Amino acid sequence: MKRLIDKLYKQNNLEDKELLELLKGINEEDIVYLKLKALETRKKYYGDKVFLRGLIEFTNYCSRNCSYCGIQAGNKYAKRYRLTLDQILECCETGYILGYRTFVLQGGEDPYYSDEKMVEIIKQIKNKYPDCAITLSLGEKSYESYKKYYEAGADRYLLRHETADKELYEKIHPGASFENRIQCLWNLKEIGYQVGAGFMVGLPNQTYEHYVKDLRFLKELEPHMVGIGPFIPHKDTIFRDEKAGTVEMTTILLALVRLLLPTVLLPSTTALGTIDPIGREKGLEAGANVIMPNLSPVDVRDKYALYDGKICTGDEAAECRMCIENRIRKAGFTLDLSRGDHLMFSGAVN
Ligand code: SAH
Repeated sequence: MKRLIDKLYKQNNLEDKELLELLKGINEEDIVYLKLKALETRKKYYGDKVFLRGLIEFTNYCSRNCSYCGIQAGNKYAKRYRLTLDQILECCETGYILGYRTFVLQGGEDPYYSDEKMVEIIKQIKNKYPDCAITLSLGEKSYESYKKYYEAGADRYLLRHETADKELYEKIHPGASFENRIQCLWNLKEIGYQVGAGFMVGLPNQTYEHYVKDLRFLKELEPHMVGIGPFIPHKDTIFRDEKAGTVEMTTILLALVRLLLPTVLLPSTTALGTIDPIGREKGLEAGANVIMPNLSPVDVRDKYALYDGKICTGDEAAECRMCIENRIRKAGFTLDLSRGDHLMFSGAVN
């Protein structure tokens, strides 16, 4: 296994069968070594820095029915909310004062926010905070819509591919097209966004072979960001009795992604912090270099319930910010409050 890890570290690639061998055969000692190599790689490009992004969950209305997700259209128990433009701007103001220079607007696929409304929101934020980056995470849209948001000033777009296995994808996304989701990612890249793909770990019926497909897809797409988190069941979904993904598997995959895409911006996710009180620290130790604290108004926090037990639903933005800073410091990393663009976009590498 060490030989495979060294090869991956040097070449930033492995064949599919080698990745599978690694995933199947890795033991505790190898895992320590893998994470060490991932950490060494992130240090080479980003030092000890951890970038912060302020997350604004602006709507939990959704027209889709992703089987694992607590805010799916069919969940009649979900209490729905939408933030107004003014509320979104207030979140940005709070965030700006706390030092954030990236705002991530995430939501369900909510037709209420027409392209015109989104363009207005993006323009207003950019107008008030020209030194900040805007990241969108609104799901699948047409090429034209993505282009309008980009021209209005959006810089980045997060759209996890969720799983790169077509069969598994279509099983857990009834009525949705795997090809369309993948096409969206290529479209976003072509338009010029810094693009984030990613997947969940520990979904029902997910196998090592599926993870190899995820890793291969990421290597081909070469996204600037990769979001990886454990699947966590939600009580109102068909997966309510399923097991959550593990910290171990999630951190192994984070480390592998760091080695496959050495300069990638890799968040240590809230879901990872939900299944383990120091999950996000463990993510940083496996090569992650981004954390996305919550900036949403406290009274809507618990309504953006993608899964059960989500952390930080009761904390004010300032508390989240301080808590994260302490955690980052304690884990031996340093906070970086700059925009934190991908190196390709900040002029550091080609
Ligand atoms: N509508 C947007 C945002 C989705 S929510 C979109 O389609 O991209 C952001 C991410 O949360 C999803 O991409 C998914 O990977 C994750 N997520 C949703 N439900 C989850 C669950 N039960 N456990 C863990 N992660 C979940």
